[in-house]
Amino acid sequence: MKTITLIKGDGIGPEITDAVIKIINSAGVAIDWDIQTAGADVIEKEGTPLPQRVLESVKRNKVALKSPVTTPIGKGFRSVNVQLRKELDLYANLRPCYNLPNVITRYDKVDLVVVRENTEDLYAGIERQIDDNTAESIKRITRGASERIAKFAFDYAVNNNRKEVCVVTKANICKLSDGLFLESARNIAQNYPQIKFREILVDNCCMQLVQNPNQFDVLLLPNLYGDIVSDLCAGLVGGLGVAQGANIGKDYAVFEPVHGSAPDIAGEDKANPTAMLMSAIEMLNYIGEKEAAKRIKLALFETLNAGIKTADLGGSAKCSEFTDAVISRLAILVK
Ligand code: ATP
Repeated sequence: MKTITLIKGDGIGPEITDAVIKIINSAGVAIDWDIQTAGADVIEKEGTPLPQRVLESVKRNKVALKSPVTTPIGKGFRSVNVQLRKELDLYANLRPCYNLPNVITRYDKVDLVVVRENTEDLYAGIERQIDDNTAESIKRITRGASERIAKFAFDYAVNNNRKEVCVVTKANICKLSDGLFLESARNIAQNYPQIKFREILVDNCCMQLVQNPNQFDVLLLPNLYGDIVSDLCAGLVGGLGVAQGANIGKDYAVFEPVHGSAPDIAGEDKANPTAMLMSAIEMLNYIGEKEAAKRIKLALFETLNAGIKTADLGGSAKCSEFTDAVISRLAILVK
């Protein structure tokens, strides 16, 4: 039996985690969950929102499923998400975005993947206060990290039957930093003649995405633009409740929904577990449980097609009702 780290998080984290585990169990996949708590709730006891035991667990098991974790603002703690990605060198953030059945949006047939560099850029946390009225944040870009993420994007394209990689920068303004990211992507692109290579500036990319998202296939971005553009893309296909994500490195992978802990609806049985479920489906694919992943996806799609949706998608189902509806469809598929 495979052991996988399960980071339960806070806010709506525990509700959507329970829902997803119930669904995975119903699909007949045997997983031994190594449950780890993190975030605001563990600070008092352990002095940090990301205790060492969580990192050790992921290092031991290599794969984790993670729900949203809140980092308290203004208490001097570094973001749990950023720290986790850094400590485990999860350098690639992968966010597939595609239309789901019966989730009504402004666009049809969106099917794109955002590949975001996860370790540097303005997220490197190099900031300084010059004086009371002036502060600086350093945007660090290196050739090594840029070539590594570009290679990831092209390999992903090859392995997933994608046709094009489009690199997104502001290299006309940040000539050195974004210029280096762009140059690195150009260098790597030469090794993949079978994949079309395209370059676009981030402002134009945003406009094109809301005018005609169907033109995009794989988007390759440095960290900050990747953060912003991937939320934009989530909005194209139904919003945060359906946006899945994964953070992948050479040795470890952590699968997690894009959304945060949504404290405004926590504990009300209102959260949409779809984003977490789709992240779990990708995790199952990653560990080789492809048949179970397929069955769960089918059950999810059938549930949505039957008009059973949570409030964020305009429906009236509670999180628990939605979960039960997926499980009942799964029961028929498993038979
Ligand atoms: P973070 O900074 O941690 O990303 P945030 O405050 O920017 O958090 P979220 O916590 O993701 O954002 O919530 C943004 C909005 O989306 C909230 O109104 C929240 O209720 C809603 N939301 C987020 N996730 C879900 C979900 N799974 N189901 C339903 N609504 C959600």
